[in-house]
Amino acid sequence: MTADVVIIGGGLHGCSAALNLSRRNLSCIIVEKDHVGRHASSANAGGVRTLMRDPREIPLALASLDLWHDMQSLVDDDCGFEETGQLRIAETPEDFETLRKRAELVKGLGHSHEELIDEKELYRLLPHMRPGCVGGLICRRDGSGNPLIAMRAFRAAVLKAGVTLHEGVAATGAERAGEGWRVNTTAGPVEAGMVVNCAGAWADRVAGWFGDHITVTPAAPMGMITARLPHLVGPVVSSVSRYLSLKQFENGTVLISGHLRGDADRDRNIAALKMGDFAERARTVLDLFPQFSQAQVVRFWAGIEAITDDGSPIIGPSANSPNVIHAFGFNGHGFELGPKVGAVVAEIAATGGTNTPLDGLTIHRFLDNAKMTATQMANSEEIKIAQG
Ligand SMILES: Cc1cc2nc3c(=O)[nH]c(=O)nc-3n(C[C@H](O)[C@H](O)[C@H](O)COP(=O)(O)OP(=O)(O)OC[C@H]3O[C@@H](n4cnc5c(N)ncnc54)[C@H](O)[C@@H]3O)c2cc1C
Repeated sequence: MTADVVIIGGGLHGCSAALNLSRRNLSCIIVEKDHVGRHASSANAGGVRTLMRDPREIPLALASLDLWHDMQSLVDDDCGFEETGQLRIAETPEDFETLRKRAELVKGLGHSHEELIDEKELYRLLPHMRPGCVGGLICRRDGSGNPLIAMRAFRAAVLKAGVTLHEGVAATGAERAGEGWRVNTTAGPVEAGMVVNCAGAWADRVAGWFGDHITVTPAAPMGMITARLPHLVGPVVSSVSRYLSLKQFENGTVLISGHLRGDADRDRNIAALKMGDFAERARTVLDLFPQFSQAQVVRFWAGIEAITDDGSPIIGPSANSPNVIHAFGFNGHGFELGPKVGAVVAEIAATGGTNTPLDGLTIHRFLDNAKMTATQMANSEEIKIAQG
C-alpha cells in the first residue's frame, strides 16, 4: 500500500495532521496500533489552555485556540468547546507576586492574552470560593472541550477526507525505499514519501528508527469526576502554590486533575491509579470550595502520555533522516495544541517550512550530535521558520 504520507499514531495529533494533509491534497495512511483516540487523546481532562504556557509554545497555543473557537468549520462539530476562561489563583501575596512577574514576562514577549486581576475581579468571577485569596491571572478566551466528542469528530472528519485508517495495526520499523520510506507494520509494509511520527508515549521508539535517539518518560496523568453538584464555578481554576485543575461543566459535574500521576506501563498499555494523590487533590478542592464537601466521585481514570526532559513537545523535522516529521511529547497539555500542530505538520510536509515559530521545539535540542542554535535553525534548509 502506498500514499504520500504515512502517519504513525491515531491520537488527536495524528488525526489532525491527516486532516490538514488531506486539505493540501496529500494522500495519507494512519497506522494505529489500537483504535483512534484509545490513549491520551480521549482520556484527557479537556483543558483548552493557553494560560502559563512555556514561552516557546505560546505562538502555537494562541493559533490553536483560534482553531478551537472555530472548530465547527474544521471537523463539523464544536467538540464540546466552552469558552469559560482559565484562571490561576493567587492564595497569598507571594503567589500574586509570582503572577505579576509572569504577566510582565508574557507582555514583554509581545502577548496580551494573560491578564492579571485583583481580588475584586477574582471574587466577581469566583463568588463561591473561600475568602482570603488575593488575585489571579486569567486567559478569558481559554476554556475546555470534550475529548470523547473531539476524537469522534476528528475520526469522522479524517474518514470523510479520504484518509486510509488502519486500526489495530502497529508500525514495527522503517527502512528507506527510494526517496521515501517503507514502514513495516503488523499488517504488512506501507510505502510513503514521508513519515509523520505522532506515536504519543511510544514515539521515542519510533524516532529511534530514523536515527533520532532520544527518550521520553511515559507518565500516567489521572483525573476524577463527581456526580452533578450545584453550579458554583465558571472558569477552569488552578492555583500558583498547589497542584490543581478544577472545572465544573454546565451539567454540574466537577472534573478534578492537575499534575496527578499514576504509573504508566506502555508495554502493556496500562495506566495504574494512585489513590493517595486523589485524596490530596480532593482536600485542596474542599479547602477552596467547602460547599463541595458532599460531592460524590463517580469515576477515576488515567491515560498514558509522553513527558520530555524540558516539559515542552517535540515538533518538526527529524534531525537525522529526510522526509520525517515528529509531533509528540506533549507533557499533559497537548489537547489544546492538537488543531494547530496538525496544520503545522502539514505545512512542513507540503512546503518544507512553517510560518509558526518552532524555536526550541524541534528534536534537535535533545540530540548532542545535532545541537543547533535558534539562528542556525531559522536558517536551516530543513525548516525555514518565518518569525512573527
Ligand atoms: C488524564 C489526562 C489529562 C490530560 N489533560 C489535558 C488537558 O486538560 N489539556 C490538554 O491540553 N492536554 C491534556 N492532556 C494531554 C493530552 O491528552 C495529550 O497531550 C494529547 O492527547 C496527545 O495526543 P497524541 O495524539 O500525541 O497522543 P495519543 O493520543 O496517545 O496518540 C498516540 C497514538 O499512537 C499510537 N501508537 C503508538 N505507537 C504506535 C505504533 N508503533 N504503531 C501504531 N500506532 C502507535 C498509540 O496507540 C496512540 O493511540 C491530558 C492527558 C491525560 C492522560
